[in-house]
Amino acid sequence: MGKKWAIRLVSVALAVVVGILLVCQFWPRKAVYYHMSVQEIDRDIRRISAQNLSTAERMTYYSSRFLGAPYELYCQGDGPHARYDPLPLLNLKKINCMTYCEIVMALTLADYYIDFFNILQHIRYENGIIGMATRNHYTMGDWLPANSWCLDDVTHLIGGADTRSVTRVISHETFFAGKGIDDIPIMYRDREVTIDYLPFDTLLQHEDDLQSGDVVALILDAPGIFSAHMLLVIKNDQGTVFRHASMSAGKTIDSPFAAYIADLRENPKYIGMSFMRMRDKIDWDQPGGRHGKFRPQIRPISRRHWEADPARDVGREHTIQFITLHHSGVEYYGEPEPKTAIRAIQRYHQVEKKRIDIDYHYLIDPDGLIYAGRPETWVGDTETDYDPTGHLLICVLGNFEIQKPNEKQLAALTALVADKCLTYGILPEQVRGHRQLTETLCPGKHLQEWIDNGLLIKRVQERLGWLE
Ligand SMILES: [Zn+2]
Repeated sequence: MGKKWAIRLVSVALAVVVGILLVCQFWPRKAVYYHMSVQEIDRDIRRISAQNLSTAERMTYYSSRFLGAPYELYCQGDGPHARYDPLPLLNLKKINCMTYCEIVMALTLADYYIDFFNILQHIRYENGIIGMATRNHYTMGDWLPANSWCLDDVTHLIGGADTRSVTRVISHETFFAGKGIDDIPIMYRDREVTIDYLPFDTLLQHEDDLQSGDVVALILDAPGIFSAHMLLVIKNDQGTVFRHASMSAGKTIDSPFAAYIADLRENPKYIGMSFMRMRDKIDWDQPGGRHGKFRPQIRPISRRHWEADPARDVGREHTIQFITLHHSGVEYYGEPEPKTAIRAIQRYHQVEKKRIDIDYHYLIDPDGLIYAGRPETWVGDTETDYDPTGHLLICVLGNFEIQKPNEKQLAALTALVADKCLTYGILPEQVRGHRQLTETLCPGKHLQEWIDNGLLIKRVQERLGWLE
């Protein structure tokens, strides 16, 4: 063989190798989100968002971006700082049946990546406040009612006279006890929950009533819990399938509709399915502009609840550009009850200080509950000589020169500050303690420490999905 031939052979071999590498690089990786970078996913979300697609079409598209994604039961948690479940707040590399449905739903509603991350946390947590106590643990008992802002139970709409119902007791106390957790507030007492479902033998007749993107809960025949598995209904050229992150398959797959139901009918563990549907039009509550998306979830405890006195006059309007933290300056561990303590602060500001209303826009109690104070569109007030115009004033109840703020207050502060940063376009690193603006001890050295050591900023950034 001549030298020319050898060169030619090597060139061809090289070309083939380069070709294979290029194909590997661009072809299979492009298709699925579990191989894509945040930047690539961000571009894809923006591209889809710009198209005029229905909710069903988006659900169908985004669900297909995870076909083949590796299954992992424990894949998402309450973030790296959580006490009990420090898995990441978002994991696109490995998914389970629940995270799969939640991720597809959040993508469907999102316009870009940070938007997606935020919406996801609002789907996962009551009021968007991240933590074990506020997570929507039970699909039918917690998750469905908490997501009534974007999701409807359509079981009866689909099944009509074939619909059955079942009532069970949902217990957070039992749930947490089972995990060995006994030191978090129980948000919900044990309660009876009744749900609709369709028995398997009726489901085949209702295939045409299902829509692509319908979210499905597989209903167990067991006390204390309803849902054993979450799936999506997808309709495409191949007909109707259940698309789901399957533990037994170890990945996300399409299971043909009739065959899958036939399998389930053989299994006495299950009694049927419940169906939920994402709304096509969602009321985003627009005051925050496009970031109004973040708003439906952070609903502070209302003035009516803490029995606030009305404002004594109309406030001066301002545009929020800063966030400033305060403490109430009185040691406080929850006694007297928060609404009494907050009323006392309001009385002091209105009666003693002759101001129109309580000084602060929000207050946070030791359980991490957030209370609405003065309307945030009005300038707040202060004991000291800085001008609070443009400042959103958040007061954490306690004297943090003496006591230390707790984890629940940090979680609430993180959620509230993140919400306001997103709403008003404030950078998390612009958050200040009162003492950085004027001569005062407020908000106390132990609360100021969360600003000075970067902890609060880092948490807010994570909350906003800025870190991968
Ligand atoms: Zn202050």
